[in-house]
Amino acid sequence: MTEKTNLLDYDLKSLESYFNEIGDKSFRARQVIKWIYHHGVVDYQSMTNLSKSLRSNLEENTIIKLPEIVTEQRSEDGTRKWLIRVDNKNSVETVFIPENDRGTLCISSQVGCPLDCKFCSTAQQGFNRNLTTSEIIGQVWIANQALGCFESGKRLITNIVFMGMGEPLLNYNNVLKTINLLTDDLAFGLARRRVTVSTSGIIPEIERLKDDTNVSLAISLHASNNELRNNIVPINRSYPLNDLLAACKRYSEGRDNETVTIEYVMLNGVNDGLQDARDLVKCLHDLPAKVNLIPFNKFPGTNYTCSDQNTINAFRDILIKAGIVTITRKTRGDDIDAACGQLVGKVSAKAARHQKTSAGQI
Ligand code: SAH
Repeated sequence: MTEKTNLLDYDLKSLESYFNEIGDKSFRARQVIKWIYHHGVVDYQSMTNLSKSLRSNLEENTIIKLPEIVTEQRSEDGTRKWLIRVDNKNSVETVFIPENDRGTLCISSQVGCPLDCKFCSTAQQGFNRNLTTSEIIGQVWIANQALGCFESGKRLITNIVFMGMGEPLLNYNNVLKTINLLTDDLAFGLARRRVTVSTSGIIPEIERLKDDTNVSLAISLHASNNELRNNIVPINRSYPLNDLLAACKRYSEGRDNETVTIEYVMLNGVNDGLQDARDLVKCLHDLPAKVNLIPFNKFPGTNYTCSDQNTINAFRDILIKAGIVTITRKTRGDDIDAACGQLVGKVSAKAARHQKTSAGQI
């Protein structure tokens, strides 16, 4: 038996085509999407503006299948982390970070990660597969439900960041459909600048993203010279620093020179010297950028440690003196291992680190 079509794998445009294919009107897609993402309704019989015959046709041929919550953890600081099962062997993590003026949901795009950034715990697990659109948008749906947003009508999730497990730009098509749903008024209706794709720098896909959507871009830079970046973010061997910065510039120009966020993890004695900061200033001289310094979050088995506060402040001050908006990211959800680079889920790796790949092969 062939598997039923999961309607969560469609954005508006592709769902309109689906309805045309089955001989129905494309506006049905708008109705169904509204039910699912505005009202949180995933049972066809409750979609009362669809005809009875369409409802039973959908029931016969399609499903609305969400991933399942395995566990939820709550941090003392209000951060919530969900372990979400996507198949029998694999789970991913999703984190909600409430702040005074906003709520950010950090979502995963892959099971594990094929890149090999040395300071990231997801990298240690290897890679299993890309998440489907339903599994990515499903994380957002599930978080909305767990936070009671469908019922209350309150919009607690105001920002989405692709900063969970995986490299979003290596799962381009599914990430793009997810972005379309996140920003579609009929679905989650977020402003484009409130959706941020974070990437370690897959240049061809940064170009595609520029043409396809203008969401906010964050770059995991972490080093201000090629030698160091080749080592700690090995994808740099394929897409070196200067080419990456040029791609960021083009991206920013496509968005009226809005800033690109530069992420820089503070690794004690590795990338945190004053010369590193000065080199970073040079790297960013003609890019509208703001810098997020991320205190390194430890995980079992790592030899890295976090730079001390004085070092982080001295580094930050050099950037600020050069006129670059710089903030030190607060570590959130540390007590439940929900901070940057600590998300591990449960990955049944097809490509474990030692078998796979130098970034050059990707
Ligand atoms: N693959 C994407 C998104 C996932 S990581 C990317 O590389 O951007 C989200 C951010 O957390 C990235 O900037 C990543 O480099 C950073 N990060 C990874 N491990 C970390 C750790 N142990 N401590 C602090 N930040 C980390």
